[in-house]
Amino acid sequence: MKILANDGISEIGKIELEKAGFEVITTKVAQEQVANYINANDVSVLLVRSATKVRKDIIDACAGLKIIGRGGVGMDNIDVDYARAAGKHVINTPASSSESVAELVFAHLFSGIRFLHDSNRNMPLEGETAFEMLKKAYANGRELRGKTIGIIGFGRIGQAVAKMAVGLGMRVIAADKFVGKAEIRLDFYNGQFINVEIETEPVEDLLRHSDFITLHVPAQENGYVIGAAEIDAMKDGVGIINCSRGGVLDEVALIKALDSNKVSFAGLDVFENEPNPEIRILMHPNISLTPHIGAATLEAQDRIGSELAAQIISLLKT
Ligand code: NAD
Repeated sequence: MKILANDGISEIGKIELEKAGFEVITTKVAQEQVANYINANDVSVLLVRSATKVRKDIIDACAGLKIIGRGGVGMDNIDVDYARAAGKHVINTPASSSESVAELVFAHLFSGIRFLHDSNRNMPLEGETAFEMLKKAYANGRELRGKTIGIIGFGRIGQAVAKMAVGLGMRVIAADKFVGKAEIRLDFYNGQFINVEIETEPVEDLLRHSDFITLHVPAQENGYVIGAAEIDAMKDGVGIINCSRGGVLDEVALIKALDSNKVSFAGLDVFENEPNPEIRILMHPNISLTPHIGAATLEAQDRIGSELAAQIISLLKT
């Protein structure tokens, strides 16, 4: 049986699938050619990350396709209900990348409070005056320890962020539409651990009391989770991180708030206009940017590959 991993798959995942007798094709097929390729090559499984879209046209055209797999969490690039109604299995790997995304949140947070993104752009090649001017510009750094982080969306990634925040000595306020409380397990290198229970609070309280706010909700059907009104309700000088989905944060309101210093910095891994974010976002001196790489660590990609392989083997070989 053939598997087309159109957005790639880790070596470990590929080896596990090949050991189980599958042929794994990693040739990148252009979006408009995917259905033809699947039919011409008798492909049973289509694996994607976020680049390839699996819409109704592909699902309708590919009667022989048995499984559509998303290496990652969000399935907004797949018509999931339609595919399932057409008898296809649709799978993803929800837990594999949580720690990697959570670590990226802190990369952006540290960048924001110590101006790393800006200093990387502006470090002078030579010249004492320019160097001293930058030293002055970056003199007002802050510590995370003792500050409050507001986590909107307290699922897998939100909870992984909470765990790291507690480890850094931060206070955590979490808000979620459905989750009331969660037990966070802090593991130490020597095998010991402690459990910390965190109850969610109303989002209004989170907005009012947080020094930094980070979003971990899925793509929404009805508008922004953070727009102008929510930013108005935040503390002056708040930092905002979005490593979830572009459409949940109003970028126009964000730029306005950055320009007025209501928001001191933002860290963005996802954008309303992906893969072509707005120029004002790309050029803003107070935004730390990454190109949707939350899950792009070797460890997460290996876990994703193995988890996909295990699910495919269990669905098609047992
Ligand atoms: P999850 O399903 O475990 O948690 C999401 C939580 O958000 C749920 O508890 C849900 O109840 C809550 N929620 C939904 N709408 C809400 C709202 N309006 N207000 C408050 N809470 C709300 O998902 P997860 O695995 O933690 O992933 C979270 C997000 O991160 C998803 O959008 C996912 O696509 C994104 N993600 C991004 C990357 C990346 O590369 N940057 C990688 C993986 C996941």
